Amino acid sequence: MVNVGILGATGMVGQRFIQLLDNHPDFEITALAASSRSAGKKYVDATTWYLNEEMPESVKDIVVCETNPEDMDNDVDIVFSSLPTEFAAKVEKDFAKDYVVASNASAHRMKKNIPLVIPEVNPQFLDMIDLQQKENNWDGFIVTNPNCSTIALTLTLKPIVDNFSVNAIRVSTMQAISGAGYNGVPSMAILDNLVPYIGSEEEKMESETLHLLGDYDGEKVVNADFKLSASCHRVPVIDGHTEAVFVELDDEFDIDDIKDKMSSFKALPQELNLYSAPENPVIVKDEMDRPQPRMDRNAGNGMSVTVGRLRKEQAFDNGFKYVLVGHNTIRGAAGASVLNAELINERIL
Ligand code: NAP
Repeated sequence: MVNVGILGATGMVGQRFIQLLDNHPDFEITALAASSRSAGKKYVDATTWYLNEEMPESVKDIVVCETNPEDMDNDVDIVFSSLPTEFAAKVEKDFAKDYVVASNASAHRMKKNIPLVIPEVNPQFLDMIDLQQKENNWDGFIVTNPNCSTIALTLTLKPIVDNFSVNAIRVSTMQAISGAGYNGVPSMAILDNLVPYIGSEEEKMESETLHLLGDYDGEKVVNADFKLSASCHRVPVIDGHTEAVFVELDDEFDIDDIKDKMSSFKALPQELNLYSAPENPVIVKDEMDRPQPRMDRNAGNGMSVTVGRLRKEQAFDNGFKYVLVGHNTIRGAAGASVLNAELINERIL
């Protein structure tokens, strides 16, 4: 068993880590860290548990530690980070001197030699790790996963960019409130309402998607070369991001071919049979009123992205459009880091 710790363990994503790692065949939670508000308390006393699933018995009595390497149990090999970004920037580097850090935070996502990875999309980016360790003189390293709305979009685009020449993509998101953390969006702001702005989200979606779908030449990432425009909105849904996607190809295509490429898409995590890998990363539905967050966010244990309303676009040439739903705190956050760690455990540790 690999011993793992969680930074930000009491938060929205931290709780998902605990749920996903409970009874994991390769990873065992042995350390939980949070702010000084929680440190020194048993996890059960420090945490306002909000998930539908019960808090696992195995973590209730773990005493939450301060978030620094000196306070972390030495036997831990991997730390999962769900820290606020501004705090993650320094702390994750401190941990990387000795530990593997699998991070959700955006602090290090686009940094040189720090892999931003979706295992089905760009596992080759893990080749950066050697350079990262040499450059920083670290025994550990940092690997990051993308922003929640980017992961869902990129998984559905991967079978498209691999098989067709893409000219431009527009995406409009309808994002769940859990994406902002437990205290993120006041109920007075979101009930009977939507908010047409999420700070830095559009910039993250545009830059991270092109980076992930680009290539790593051994020294740097060369971005994918199509145009991408995102418009991001917060809606009164608890879990599950919905996105309306409009794709413009360079050439004519058959819509059934697009459907087939998406629904038959499998990649390295499926080949390696990684524990958290869904059988189908992308599920395509034919019903006219799907996908919907409440009905589709848990597909593939929350690790599949569900696509529907796949149809030709009439407003421009060689276009098609679809709607997707992905679970933002599972595939979009904790589950993404766990799958990254499973790949690292299989290939690197
Ligand atoms: P959250 O619910 O607000 O939880 C924040 C966690 O960080 C808590 O455990 C908190 O501990 C801890 N923390 C806060 N300030 C700290 C400090 N100064 N020192 C040490 N620990 C501190 O936030 P979240 O939604 O889980 O998000 C966490 C990270 O994941 C963020 O970087 C976010 O951008 C990223 N992310 C979130 C999602 C999502 O869907 N929610 C998706 C992708 C990425 P206390 O309880 O002790 O305060």
